[in-house]
Amino acid sequence: MAEVILAALLGACVGSFLNVCIVRLPEDRSIVFPASHCVACKKPIRWHDNIPVLSYVLLRGRCRDCRAGISWVYPAVELAGAALFALFYTTFGLTPAGVVYLSMALALLVETVIDMRYQIIPDEITLPGMVIGLIVSTVWPSLHGSEVWWGGALASLAGLLAGGGFLYLAGTLAEKILKKEAMGGGDVKLLAMIGAVIGWQGVLWTVLASSFTGAIAGLTLRWTTGEERIPFGPYLALGAVLYIFFGQSSIRWYIQMIGLG
Ligand SMILES: [Zn+2]
Repeated sequence: MAEVILAALLGACVGSFLNVCIVRLPEDRSIVFPASHCVACKKPIRWHDNIPVLSYVLLRGRCRDCRAGISWVYPAVELAGAALFALFYTTFGLTPAGVVYLSMALALLVETVIDMRYQIIPDEITLPGMVIGLIVSTVWPSLHGSEVWWGGALASLAGLLAGGGFLYLAGTLAEKILKKEAMGGGDVKLLAMIGAVIGWQGVLWTVLASSFTGAIAGLTLRWTTGEERIPFGPYLALGAVLYIFFGQSSIRWYIQMIGLG
């Protein structure tokens, strides 16, 4: 139990760093320098006002200097970081799979918030993500149920191409039918990154799960707010994380059910 709490505390601190990425990546600024400052008054944030979640609560969501409101998204990302660390640690322990899947989930968390805010998916996440996905799959082929390095590498490459290719074709087709841009290039690269980590079966699952959740959320939003255009990236992210926890076991169950296993 103490280990899980430690994992959650570490996750909250990592969440604090993810917030820096969320603010600075869309503006093409360094994620290392300078130190964090208030977006309203530009004064640097004191170290004791930068404690994840706690500082937000103690300051009642306002800057100590200018009293400008601080977005609730910051503590929410820190809490999500804590929850993801605890969840992946209790499920996978300190294993290559645990570290790789947790890293992907954190990258997807950053992508989700940026996509919801700006309707963009930064290449700074997806392009290195594809390369890292290929490398870790080669180093740990067991991630794809293989025992040889080239098995992992091929599975990762197949996932990357399946993810990128599928959305690219679907987007081009939808564009021809709807006569307007249906799928952003960012979504294509995002699913390619996801595929490089979880393989082509993971891509299939992610597409199915995200179409389902995306359609429900899209219809709900259209009815309640009249919003037509919703970013698809967050649903791809959710689908990929669901695959890690439920996908592989449900695919095994399905194969047994239809009598192939
Ligand atoms: Zn301020």
